[in-house]
Amino acid sequence: MLSALTLAAALCGMLLSFTIDSGARSRATLSQILIFASLAGFVATVALRPASGRTEAVGASRAAVSDSAKRACNFSNVAANAQALQSLTELRDYLKAPEKYVRYGARMPKGVLLYGPPGTGKTLLARALAGEAGVPFFALSGSDFVEKYVGVGAGRVRELFKKARKAGKCVIFIDEIDALGKRRDENASDERDQTLNALLSEMSGFYTGDGVIVIAATNRIDALDPALLRPGRFDRHIEVGLPGRAERLSILKLHSENKPLDEDVSLEALAAETVSFSGASLESLLNEAALLAAARGNGNICKADIQTAFYKTVAGADREITATPQERLVIAVHEAGHALVSHLLSPENRLSRVSILPAGHGAAGYNLCVPAERVMVGRKHMQSQICVLLAGRAAEQLTFGEEELTAGASSDISRATELAASMVTELGMAGEPAVSLKALNRACGGVTGAAERCKALLDGLYGRTLQLLSEQQGALTALSQALLESESLDGAMAEAIIDAHLSNDRREPA
Ligand code: ADP
Ligand code: ZN
Ligand code: MG
Repeated sequence: MLSALTLAAALCGMLLSFTIDSGARSRATLSQILIFASLAGFVATVALRPASGRTEAVGASRAAVSDSAKRACNFSNVAANAQALQSLTELRDYLKAPEKYVRYGARMPKGVLLYGPPGTGKTLLARALAGEAGVPFFALSGSDFVEKYVGVGAGRVRELFKKARKAGKCVIFIDEIDALGKRRDENASDERDQTLNALLSEMSGFYTGDGVIVIAATNRIDALDPALLRPGRFDRHIEVGLPGRAERLSILKLHSENKPLDEDVSLEALAAETVSFSGASLESLLNEAALLAAARGNGNICKADIQTAFYKTVAGADREITATPQERLVIAVHEAGHALVSHLLSPENRLSRVSILPAGHGAAGYNLCVPAERVMVGRKHMQSQICVLLAGRAAEQLTFGEEELTAGASSDISRATELAASMVTELGMAGEPAVSLKALNRACGGVTGAAERCKALLDGLYGRTLQLLSEQQGALTALSQALLESESLDGAMAEAIIDAHLSNDRREPA
């Protein structure tokens, strides 16, 4: 269930297909691409960039620092996340007057777990709670506790709680708690066990009257040791999810309060474009735009700044073309293939840009689609997505022949394979609809045939993609020629070129 959810997040993410530089740089690029492919969605990579306001590392000897020196922060710095804020308001009231709760014999949660994708404001919420309640904030990251030598991490936990106790009422924040609280059956380690036990016993040492709240954050609640989630420990769980369209608008409004925007900038339109962006990515987008405007030095932040910042945030900055003319042709054909199949099979995903300019993450060119906002991902949609991913390679094969295939499709192929694998092993979408081979494998061991099924699924979908492209070779050629000429086309223009060259207007319903 959970990984199906992450999968849904990945699919709802910006659909980017890359062509990778081949040749001299390929080794560096390939390793980057592996990193990229192993992440859930592209936007996740953006949100993971360290620049976007991570928890401050803790000072000397890694003992926790209180937040007094930092910019004051309270609930007004948080947009969206209404539900989380409501829960936290209750905790604020408690922090302000713990005695009241003692009088009624009410037990407040000692531990609160914030969980959700990176960049959704978990750290921000914890800090805002401390700010609202006017109590010190102690922050440490789970990875700071994980040490090679047994006992060091546990010592650090005790040190942290000792400091916090001295402060009286406070909020203790432990980021990335999964680093020390992983399920113990996976890779057991003495050191981590001791650290975890130290944390649990410190937490049980508090009383409701103390006014101490421990907040932990993770983006992998499924990986946590159940011992952490038991009553009396982190027993209140607050989900901090990716913002929907209205929430994105309120985050954009909040972060543009101090930025002079031109009249032609529509935050409503931007909120609609930024499907699956986290709060951190939205903030970083506006900041990029502000940097561009500041560098120019005259006038406000205009629509073009926002547009450039948008592409930069999702795909990295454009770079100069260094490819040879023949390579450019290959890249153009490859990208045209993605765009064409996406337009035919998933017209609900709006093409935003098709480009053969090199961009971030070693991309030699890319397609950017703004996906339709959706909650559920269906089988047809996943199949279409695999076809779109495979279309770059199929276009190359069709145009230049099998001998001339390039490494440019490596990330496409591995993402398609991962999607196919989850259809086969987790979602029951290829074979028995009621069986999760993964769960079966865990329960009974040694299920065979998954790899074969996965290959058959991919072969079938690749065949379908080749067929589709060969029927529409006119459109493929026209689009790649147009890309060669103008290097980057906005989505509407690309779609118009495709539509003008479609033979017998064969469109499959999505
Ligand atoms: P997380 O801890 O979930 O990874 P952070 O709290 O570090 O995310 O968020 C990083 C930055 O993104 C924040 O400092 C803030 O500028 C911005 N941000 C994220 N979510 C929100 C939100 N709901 N409202 C306002 N700003 C947000
Ligand atoms: Zn590709
Ligand atoms: Mg954080």
